[in-house]
Amino acid sequence: MASADLNYEIVKSFNGKVVVIKYGGNAMTDSRSQEQVLNQVAEMKTLGIYPVVVHGGGPVIKALFEQSGIDSEFVDGHRITLKNSMEVVEQALSGKVNGELVNRLNRLGANAVGLSGKDGGLVKARKRIHNRQTESGPEEIDLGFVGDVDVVNPDLLHLLIKNGYLPVISPVSGGENGDDYNINADMFAGHIAGALQAEAFVAITNVDGLMEDPDRPETKIVAITSGEVKKLFGSVIQGGMIPKIEACNIALDKGVKAAHIVNGAMDQSILLQLFTEKKSGTTIKKE
Ligand code: ADP
Ligand code: MG
Repeated sequence: MASADLNYEIVKSFNGKVVVIKYGGNAMTDSRSQEQVLNQVAEMKTLGIYPVVVHGGGPVIKALFEQSGIDSEFVDGHRITLKNSMEVVEQALSGKVNGELVNRLNRLGANAVGLSGKDGGLVKARKRIHNRQTESGPEEIDLGFVGDVDVVNPDLLHLLIKNGYLPVISPVSGGENGDDYNINADMFAGHIAGALQAEAFVAITNVDGLMEDPDRPETKIVAITSGEVKKLFGSVIQGGMIPKIEACNIALDKGVKAAHIVNGAMDQSILLQLFTEKKSGTTIKKE
């Protein structure tokens, strides 16, 4: 976007503020859209904003699982992760995806630093107790080494941000007993946004936003409150959208001003959503 198209009053209100961007695995596969997402992240930094990137890596995990002959199954947007597959998840996320994003951002001059939930004790994980809603009531499912965020210690992030670095974070984190946990990247990012008291939380995905009917893009919800969106669980909100909306609500509950869901494949979607009146995706606010 020509920088002149941005609303500079809005840009100014973000000056010196943190924006946490969750970059979704499924929005990373196309190299052109990846390039334009990372260009926008780098541009935000030049506008005096402190972006922090949290990434998933679905397609890379899937490819490595196939190579290793591991099956993978999702329950309500969370990937069931057994002990042997946890190693592969860590290779994919903290290794391949993280390294690639850091490298590309640095080629754009963004001073990116790659880390995971383990670094500097950023996130302590605990095993997730997952309740799947069924017609006969909630049913507890063992997701293996899928974790929830237990505690966030954002000290290391503050240190990096303050010194001009752009943190790029893989959600793999350590638990109390030394086990590694795979935390859904949306949930992880929502907690990080909360701990950093971010100005905004942006989830970049492969659809235009939250839709009343996922098969009909014209049913996209442009703006909704966290109270209203909670009523859509169990009907409108399915699969990978479940942890994404939960993450938005976690961030908002912890004081983040607004949460957004935007399409990584749409040109300039992040800048349009944050810094213009032409909203590209869905905005969720407390009230
Ligand atoms: P990501 O890698 O971005 O986390 P996910 O596949 O986990 O991607 O989550 C995004 C997916 O959620 C969409 O591709 C879509 O299939 C699904 N989805 C479920 N319910 C909705 C909804 N109401 N509106 C939009 N997308 C939805
Ligand atoms: Mg997902």
